[in-house]
Amino acid sequence: MADSVLPYGRQTIDDDDIAAVADALRGDFLTTGPTVEAFERAFAETVGARHAVACANGTAALHLAMLALKVQPGEVVIAPSITFLATANCARYVGADVIFADVDPASGLMTPETLAAALERLAGRRLRAVLPVHLRGDACELPALEALAGRHGAVLVEDAPHALGTTATFGNAAETIGDVRHSAMATFSFHPVKTIATGEGGMVTTNDAALAERLRTLRSHGMTRPPGADPWWYEMSEPGFNYRLPDILCALGLSQLRKLPAFAARRRALAAAYIEALAPLAPLVTPAATPPWSDPVLHLMTVLIDFDRAGLSRRAVVEGLRARGVGSQVHYIPVHSQPYYRGLYGEPSLPGAEAWYARCLSLPLYPGMADGDVGRVVDALRETLRL
Ligand SMILES: *Cc1c(COP(=O)(O)O)cnc(C)c1O
Repeated sequence: MADSVLPYGRQTIDDDDIAAVADALRGDFLTTGPTVEAFERAFAETVGARHAVACANGTAALHLAMLALKVQPGEVVIAPSITFLATANCARYVGADVIFADVDPASGLMTPETLAAALERLAGRRLRAVLPVHLRGDACELPALEALAGRHGAVLVEDAPHALGTTATFGNAAETIGDVRHSAMATFSFHPVKTIATGEGGMVTTNDAALAERLRTLRSHGMTRPPGADPWWYEMSEPGFNYRLPDILCALGLSQLRKLPAFAARRRALAAAYIEALAPLAPLVTPAATPPWSDPVLHLMTVLIDFDRAGLSRRAVVEGLRARGVGSQVHYIPVHSQPYYRGLYGEPSLPGAEAWYARCLSLPLYPGMADGDVGRVVDALRETLRL
């Protein structure tokens, strides 16, 4: 791979993953078979939740979560501005309005302070859900966010695609992201850059049996079969979607999930190597801040670069890195500044999100990186910044 460009993230697929998919293809069920439940059970056990519901992708997971909560048009969902588009869009799918919360410019995370500021913009509307995003893999301060949302009769729905494997310690006990101790649901994605990959794929975890039941019904057209009904019978009380995850991909997910401990250990080791190698580049380049309660399995190795002080535009740095064989990506363009949302809501003042966006750049991080790659990336960054 010496002459190619290191991407910012990529999947790790081995022969046993391929064999698992081939077995599924030779089996009786390509979809709606037993591998779906097996993947769901294994996932629920891994994160410590009672229920896990597999679905087509992380965006479908968010949409299903809004539907399961029966979020209505005109109600409000709060999402951070620094996230992928889908976190906010899921509210719009059900006709709800989005209030964008600001983020801490050092960590990129929604905080109790930025949530409190967003709550002041409710203007009498009914808040139904707050969607904390565990950006890069670092855990948000869930107990405090839950308390604030609860005061308005709303629940947390964690958008957790970055944080599979992350633990957090609030008080004494370590918690696993996805165990939904502070939230109604958590959503995950198995897009190729995420911690485990199925190509496209998603999951919702919950400890609430009624929510799990609604998620399962809504993922398959809203169809139900009353106990003792005729064998051909089904009923639909509300229209759902086809958001199923096929057995072929659940087989891949199961195989990938078995490697989560190894993937997590490798990501942790690479992140530690980055932090050590980047230290001499401070204060021009600093890794995004990890809050004291968070013990992350990082999905993204995001650094904050003072481009003004470096005398280089971000574009020049991205191109300089690329010329040296290093890919990078920006996570994220503030969602509140997208033309669609500006058209709906104008442009709220979110200085933390703007400050984060002005500096952030994600460097390559994935288990398949070679031992020397971190040094190679940091050298490329140093040369690009002429340090
Ligand atoms: C990847 C991602 C999603 C969407 O997941 P898809 O599987 O690509 O639909 C949503 N939110 C966040 C924070 C993500 O990183």
